[in-house]
Amino acid sequence: MKFVDEYRDAQRARQLAEVIRRSTTRPWSIMEVCGGQTHAIVRFALDEMLPAEITLIHGPGCPVCVTPVEIIDQAIALAARPDVILVSYGDMLRVPGSVKDLLSVKAEGGDVRMVYSSLDALKTARDHPDKKVVFFAIGFETTAPANAMAAIVAEREGVDNFFMLTSHVLVPPALEAIASSPDNRVQGFLAPGHVCTVTGYVDYERLAQEHHIPIVVTGFEPVDLLQATHMLVQQLESGRCEVENQYSRSVKREGNPQARAIMDSVFEVVDHGWRGIGVIPKSGLRLKGAYARFDATRAFSIEPAGASEAESVCIAGLVLQGVRKPVDCPAFGSDCTPEHCLGAPMVSSEGACAAYYHYARRAAAR
Ligand code: SF4
Repeated sequence: MKFVDEYRDAQRARQLAEVIRRSTTRPWSIMEVCGGQTHAIVRFALDEMLPAEITLIHGPGCPVCVTPVEIIDQAIALAARPDVILVSYGDMLRVPGSVKDLLSVKAEGGDVRMVYSSLDALKTARDHPDKKVVFFAIGFETTAPANAMAAIVAEREGVDNFFMLTSHVLVPPALEAIASSPDNRVQGFLAPGHVCTVTGYVDYERLAQEHHIPIVVTGFEPVDLLQATHMLVQQLESGRCEVENQYSRSVKREGNPQARAIMDSVFEVVDHGWRGIGVIPKSGLRLKGAYARFDATRAFSIEPAGASEAESVCIAGLVLQGVRKPVDCPAFGSDCTPEHCLGAPMVSSEGACAAYYHYARRAAAR
């Protein structure tokens, strides 16, 4: 298959759902790790096509949702400074910190701007040499190489008014934390294909072996997700715990060596907090070596903030851990909507709450 329409072919999707139904003899709980996969599942009602024995659990793979409140508060404090222009991707501007969000700071006069790429952020610094430009850089291994490139170019060009406030997180340590939790219900992972396009899946092989859990690297279209679910069910039913690659049109076992080398030359692995989940060992990236001078937390002497979540009905932490569904939240669709968000999973275009709001409610209306 070559074209996206083929990966959305309803007839083929129905055939795959039937094959899954015939292959399933027992209940299985499967986590789709990435928020993009959650959106496809809810948008195309794939969960409703699967047999009742299969439970899909939505994973923590939404980078905006897992950015810790302390780092958002640091961004807010920086944005309020008169000598700073703070730039970030659009979704981050609306995510609540402990008291307010970045758009509120902009409304109060702070210079907060949206960018579409890390090199746009760097251009802002070149265009405004009289200001300190802070790029609020977040994301998984997918965005880390491009953000690393901004630091490399800034170093090469000697751009000394460019800084990065980073919240980069890594997928394998999060899956390890989920698989090792005493409350874990997940029996198999649909791993994020775009992340593995960069990193490959060698780390996932160790995870599958150590935790006796099958993993299928998966794409983002309906046929991808159903085919990968079938591969996972076959492993579960036969007692195998391997890593299989459904997304072979994009992912190689070793990933993208150039992208990994760029990432490794700029960042070092550190313990990192995940909003709603807590600190996961060796799950984050921090600027290192010659690039540490671009680290906004060092350049601005930002305190390691002790911010806490505001008192709220929001159950985002439980949603991100797959323990509860968005519709279990008492605020879903009433006090919390995309226009008035109480939590990050409703703000982000990859958030599970936004997926349920945009697609599941429409389906219910139909
Ligand atoms: S619906 Fe809103 S308040 Fe409820 S968990 Fe999702 S983001 Fe939080």
